[in-house]
Amino acid sequence: MFDFRCDNGHTNEKFVDSETNEIDCPDCQLKARKIVTPVKVNREKNSWKEVRRWSKQRESQIKHERKHGITL
Ligand SMILES: [Zn+2]
Repeated sequence: MFDFRCDNGHTNEKFVDSETNEIDCPDCQLKARKIVTPVKVNREKNSWKEVRRWSKQRESQIKHERKHGITL
């Protein structure tokens, strides 16, 4: 079971083999990339904070990439 997230921010869980890094987002058909969270290693303490920090970083990275016209 892996989490995938597209550029529209849809997150979906899917069963795929570990080789698969991209799926088509079920919600908008964009490419959704596998999320590899560091959280699972350290889920005991402050894991939700880690998730929030991580997703904020990811969002600003996406905004930055969009702003500068970088297509992934
Ligand atoms: Zn989507």
